[in-house]
This record gives sequence, C-alpha cells and structure tokens, in this order.
Amino acid sequence: MNHSIATSGLILDEPLLWEKGKKGRRGMSIPSSDVPAAALDPNLLGEAVDFPDLSEIDVVRHYTRLSQWNFGVDTGMYPLGSCTMKYNPKTNEQQAANPAIAAAHPMLADEQSQGVLRLLFELQQLLALITGLDAVSLQPAAGAHGELTGMLIFNAYHDSRGSKRTKILIPDTAHGTNPASAALCGYRSIPVKSDEHGMLRAESVAALMDEETAGIMLTNPNTLGLFEQEVREIAAIVHAKGGLVYGDGANMNAALGIMDAKRCGVDVLHLNLHKTFSTPHGGGGPGAGPVCVTSELEPFLPVPRVIHDGECFRLEEEQPLSVGRVHAFHGNFGVLVRAYSYILSMGRELKRASQLAVLNANYIKERLKGDFHLPYDQPCMHECVFSDKLQQEYKVSTLDMAKRLIDCGFHPPTIYFPLVVHGALMIEPTETECKEEIDQFIAALKHIAQEAREQPELLRAAPQRTKVRRLDEVQAARCPCLIGAVAQPGE
Ligand SMILES: *Cc1c(COP(=O)(O)O)cnc(C)c1O
Repeated sequence: MNHSIATSGLILDEPLLWEKGKKGRRGMSIPSSDVPAAALDPNLLGEAVDFPDLSEIDVVRHYTRLSQWNFGVDTGMYPLGSCTMKYNPKTNEQQAANPAIAAAHPMLADEQSQGVLRLLFELQQLLALITGLDAVSLQPAAGAHGELTGMLIFNAYHDSRGSKRTKILIPDTAHGTNPASAALCGYRSIPVKSDEHGMLRAESVAALMDEETAGIMLTNPNTLGLFEQEVREIAAIVHAKGGLVYGDGANMNAALGIMDAKRCGVDVLHLNLHKTFSTPHGGGGPGAGPVCVTSELEPFLPVPRVIHDGECFRLEEEQPLSVGRVHAFHGNFGVLVRAYSYILSMGRELKRASQLAVLNANYIKERLKGDFHLPYDQPCMHECVFSDKLQQEYKVSTLDMAKRLIDCGFHPPTIYFPLVVHGALMIEPTETECKEEIDQFIAALKHIAQEAREQPELLRAAPQRTKVRRLDEVQAARCPCLIGAVAQPGE
C-alpha cells in the first residue's frame, strides 16, 4: 500500500482543566455589580469548591483537542460488525432539534400534543410495515431493553394461558444480550448449536423444544451475517409446542423491505433504531429498541399505547394484560424523531440501502478471502466474518491486525465476536461507504496480511501512529484512571 490516509499530524496533548487553570483567568466579562457585596452565610457554603480559573480560549482549545482524539462515522469508515456504524444524514438531526419538537413537554395533555402523538403513531405504523408485524411499542431504550420487554411479553402470554415455562432456546451465535435478557426475566437459557455452515438447523431445535420452554430467541440474519434459511421450519416446531419466537432485529439493516418477519414466523421482534434508523451511537448515548408484535400479542405491549380513536391521537393506559411501563414518558423521543425523519426521507430507497449494505459486505468478502481465512464461505448478508487462522503461523493475532488498521486510518472491525469463530474479524461496511473508500480499506487489510508474512513484529507493536500506543487492557479494566491520577490496585 503506497498511500495511507492516517497521519499523526497536529493532534495535540492536553492536560486536565484543573492542571491548566491559573488563578485570576476569566472566561467572560460580566457587568460590575450595582448592589453592595455581602458575605455568604458560611453554613450554606460547605467546603470550598475547587474550580479552575480559565480563559475562553483555554476552554475552547481543551474541548476541541479532546474531540480530535475521538473517531466517529463522520471522521471515517467504521466497519464494526453487528453495530451498523453507518453515516447518519444531518437532516434527521435537524428535524430532532426543531424547537417545536425538541421542546415539546411530555406532561402536556393529549389534546395539546397532537403533532407529537401523531409522529409516534405514524412511526409505529411505519415500523409495523417494515417488519410485517401488527403492533409496536416505542418505549424500550435499546436493543437489550427491547429483548427484556419481549421476554416480559413471553412471560405474560404464557401466564395468561396458565402455562408455566422456565427455559428459552438461544443459538450459539446469539449476541450476549440475548441470554442476559432471558435471565433477567427468570428464564434459563438452553444453547442450541449451529451447524458447520453457521446455520441453525430445525432438527437441533426439535431435539430441545418442549412444553417447559417458553420459546426461542433468534437473530436473523445471524451474527455470522448469514440468513437463517430454516427459520420458518424452526418457528413451526416452536409454535407446535406452544412456544413463541423472538426475533432479534438488530441486524435489520440487511433486510429492510426484503424480509417479512411475521411470514418468517416471528412473534416479537425488536429493532435497533440507533443502528438501522439514523441515530449516532457507540458512545453509550440514547438509543431506541422498539418491540413489534403480532396482533395476538398486542394486548401485552407496554402502556401507555399511542392510539388513534377515530378523532384524535391519545395515550391509552387501560390494557389489563399489559406488561406495564418500561420507560418514562414516550421512550427516547429524539431517537424516534430521527427514525421517523429517516424513514420518510428514504421512502422506497430503504430497500436499496439494505441491498447496497449486502453488496458491500459480499464485495469485501470476495476480495479478501484469499488473504484471510473465511470460515463460512457462502454469500453473506450485511457483514462478513474472517479469522486469524492464516496469520497464526506468523504469531500474528486478530488483535495485532486490528491495531495495525488504526495506523492505516481505519477503525478496526469487531474482533473476537461471534464466539463461534476463533479469532473473529467481523466486518460490516454498511451501505453508506463508497467503492473508493471500501477499496482503500481492502488495500489496507491486504497490506496487513503481507506485513504479517514479512514483518510480523511491526504488527505486534501496532499502533505506531496514534497518540497513545497499545494499551494494557487488563490494567485499564482493573485500575481505571478516572481522575487523572493513576489509581493503585485495591484503592
Ligand atoms: C447491538 C445488538 C444488540 C444489543 O443492542 P443494544 O442497543 O446495544 O442494547 C442485540 N443483538 C444484536 C444482534 C446486536 O447487534
């Protein structure tokens, strides 16, 4: 590779504000007071507050420098598999920031909130249309929260039929949040092995499904980026034993306008609006994980429901079978506005977005499969998964290659997940990267594969061009330095 977009340029060091402050510096000019000075009541003062004195430029440079240490989708390609780090069009930010929307007070009466309720109602309808399911709750705040809500719905459904069920089937390719959500609901998760092609087989499900099992949690496309071909047979087996099918729809970016979850036999599905529908994420900020259900399960959805009663939009609280409220007010409203704006601005192009996401992932898979081991060599959906098997003989690991990618100007892909692939490198380019950008990414990885053969020590010492070199992750997790001073173990 003869050109890299990465430089170590003018990225500047920056101390803490406390280290930078100097007595007497000021960040603003305020008019002199025209009331006599009075001493403060010492009982109210408490301990003296230690705020640094700083000028305006001190503060502006401080935060600007810190922001330059960061990397985001607006900086460059961010191919983090399973996370769908795609570009979020700025118009959706603008709609969410519109004061008429952003300043709407959640405690206003329904009659005074018709516009906001209509937006929520229409978003519910759009998500139902996209998934093929019948009813939607927008309350859950994240994918995992949607899963938990789904498990509460499973539980309420079985309860309403006087059926006691204690177990949930979860494939070995599932995201870690699936067993965690099931466990929070008191279910014991029973792992189901996928076959040598990374597929969940109906016969493996049939062998485990019984009348003490509440159902199955299924991710489609799965976390290997593969479409679960036997999903309908699996759903039929689960339904025949009185169970329900949960669809983890976090990977919906592969299947918008293509997969009808209801026809696949799914009863409850969550979407990650922050992944698929245009909310910047990754920093732990607000998300939304709406749950979509069949009409049979609609009575169990969280309350209040946003409904239209023929005359106006209303919040409906009276749902005796409901699992109750799972979030204050209407969920993370700003994220919902972005999704609504995104869906309306994309229209039928949504399907094309998924098609391009799939095309981009397959392009990367085909171009790199000579350089990296591809454990499941078949057409993929929105992401492809390689491993470090070919690099092991040079004692180069997935971690080394991920760190080296940073030197080449790319955020690394997801590594060591899914767990069924040893040393996994999971690449999700998304639809928003152009061919030139993807070609540069491919060139960087090909260059790294060559370095692994010829100069493996370079990879083991990567990254070299960053502000900080390779971090000791164990030390960072055990003794996090949160205040500027290095904490010692046990402190
Ligand atoms: C991201 C993801 C989740 C969890 O979503 P959060 O919003 O992070 O809670 C669940 N399942 C899959 C497959 C995912 O990719």
